[in-house]
Amino acid sequence: MITLALSKGRIFDDSLPLLRAAGIEVLEDPEKSRKLIIGTSRPDVRVVLVRASDVPTYVQHGGADLGVAGLDVLLEGSEGLYRVLDLNIARCRLSVAVREGFDYAGTVKQGSRLKVATKYTHLARQFFASKGVHVDLIKLYGSMELAPLTGLADAIVDLVSTGSTLKANHLVEVEKIMDISSRLVVNPAALKLKREPLRALIDAFEAAVKARS
Ligand code: ATP
Ligand code: MG
Repeated sequence: MITLALSKGRIFDDSLPLLRAAGIEVLEDPEKSRKLIIGTSRPDVRVVLVRASDVPTYVQHGGADLGVAGLDVLLEGSEGLYRVLDLNIARCRLSVAVREGFDYAGTVKQGSRLKVATKYTHLARQFFASKGVHVDLIKLYGSMELAPLTGLADAIVDLVSTGSTLKANHLVEVEKIMDISSRLVVNPAALKLKREPLRALIDAFEAAVKARS
């Protein structure tokens, strides 16, 4: 049996066409069913649904053989995984945003401390350290956009795709930290034990990604 970890929402939705191209139909819609383990048209392949940030943990500890996770999640904290393929799905960017009118460039130039709210404290710390900017990091788990509006922080580090959420909250993107997309990750031990079927599946994913680019 091959177990693939996916998260509900955009990663699941964007993975479906790739799975289909690889000859795998997922047998249930996670938005309709409450099942956490879903079968596929391949009797030897099943999907487990986990939180986006839990995908690396499942794959690392062998709860799944492979999984799909955002580069943001992988870089923020994961180890013991092979990052085998850029699937080019769930694309966005990790950026710094501030309230309209806030002088980000000036604050950075003057060397003042910057209060930054984010879910990505590790990546944010790395980024500002590389620029030599002193930051006080505030860890949040959601609704980052609220932080600059309430005075909790001067800036946020968050994922941006169209920018419409920022705009709706009178925030502006002032600096891109990195481009993000989702990656196929594999458990190294599984790759040894189930080499043939996993290799075939990875190759099928790769062909599907190439066909779409
Ligand atoms: P949870 O709801 O469990 O806390 P989450 O909110 O991070 O997880 P999603 O919003 O589905 O879950 O995001 C999953 C992944 O999709 C992220 O890790 C990121 O790589 C990518 N992603 C997030 N936001 C966007 C976006 N606006 N556009 C494109 N991709 C995105
Ligand atoms: Mg989300």
